[in-house]
Amino acid sequence: MFSQFALHERLLKAVAELKFVEPTPVQAAAIPLALQGRDLRVTAQTGSGKTAAFVLPILNRLIGPAKIRVSIKAVILLPTRELAQQTLKEVERFSQFTFIKSGLITGGEDFKVQAAMLRKVPDILIGTPGRLLEQLNAGNLDLKEVEVLVLDEADRMLDMGFAEDVQRLVDECASRQQTMLFSATTGGSGLREMIGKVLVNPEHLQLNSVSQLNATTRQQIITADHNQHKEQIVNWLLANETYQKAIIFTNTRAMADRIYGRLVALEYKAFVLHGDKDQKDRKLAIDRLKQGGVKILVATDVAARGLDVDGLDMVINFDMPRSGDEYVHRIGRTGRAGNDGLAISLICHGDCGGPKKVKASGKAVGVKKKKTDAKGEKKKTGAKAPTKRKIANRPKTDALSLVSKDGMAPLKRRKPEAPAAE
Ligand code: AMP
Repeated sequence: MFSQFALHERLLKAVAELKFVEPTPVQAAAIPLALQGRDLRVTAQTGSGKTAAFVLPILNRLIGPAKIRVSIKAVILLPTRELAQQTLKEVERFSQFTFIKSGLITGGEDFKVQAAMLRKVPDILIGTPGRLLEQLNAGNLDLKEVEVLVLDEADRMLDMGFAEDVQRLVDECASRQQTMLFSATTGGSGLREMIGKVLVNPEHLQLNSVSQLNATTRQQIITADHNQHKEQIVNWLLANETYQKAIIFTNTRAMADRIYGRLVALEYKAFVLHGDKDQKDRKLAIDRLKQGGVKILVATDVAARGLDVDGLDMVINFDMPRSGDEYVHRIGRTGRAGNDGLAISLICHGDCGGPKKVKASGKAVGVKKKKTDAKGEKKKTGAKAPTKRKIANRPKTDALSLVSKDGMAPLKRRKPEAPAAE
């Protein structure tokens, strides 16, 4: 019960309004410590309810009568625009019975409109590092009175090259009293360094590890001979798996566009989301997916970071992610808030230990074509029928019996049950 926490009654009212009954494990662990003002380092995946775990204590600190605002009191930094937008919505939902005002600063939005919003001085500012820094450099942002700072998805911010920007913003919040750092993974040396610099005597709450992630998500791999074969498997999966909404991940924009084009040719209602898309396209894609008008999203990692879409129950890794962390983030799109999910990874011989750096065009950077597979065995010639391997508890399926025997001949599209309703 949320009433176990020493939260203001207006916040408990909002929690009840949202029909949150039981706190999630991360909330149960983090909220009492955060209410005490402790610095926290929390390892918890997206979908675990971590947003409420830091938002409720922040609101509890700031709650009070209506007053003229003179300074920003809390800052929440996130790696992507979508994640920042979702966090703003969550803050607004929890603060609906209070006078607390929040604002959003992300790239892709009008700079002057943002500056005008900043002049009104929100209590809580949510944003992505790049644009926040631009507003700071333009003299529009004063973080000197910030009391609480949250770095959400800190591991991802580092992956995306925001380390310096984040540090600069952290330094601006010089008089902060509390810092909370959340990451989906335990991270590497970069994260450890950041933790050492920004947190003071933090409590470390480790709510998950890679092996425990997504208990409700079944994970499978399907072996494929090459990309064309993968495309056939994707067609088969979309036509035959039972799902409400699906997301297909690729490592490159070029591949995302290619798959999107093929799905459109097959008359699927789909959207593509990657770094070349402007903010309007991204918003439209996510809104349509949320509303259910579109049921399939093809995306690169950066674009789909932090997506929280109800009913997203199938993730297909067309390309294997380049790191275990990325895999965790991707499959975290499904199986959220205890719902069932299915994560399927399509694997070619070159996917493991393959090139780390890939150009946006999809070509490897400075890596010659490999002649051996991941185990060092010589690549066998001739296409094989793909085999589907169970990673988690998954009932046996005859899925691949429908993929042509040589794994090559184009498959006829069968209308999928869920998307056929579109
Ligand atoms: P998050 O990990 O913060 O992105 O939360 C994932 C989703 O779970 C969001 O849609 C939240 O609104 C929802 N959620 C968070 N906490 C609870 C809770 N205690 N009960 C039910 N839903 C929750």
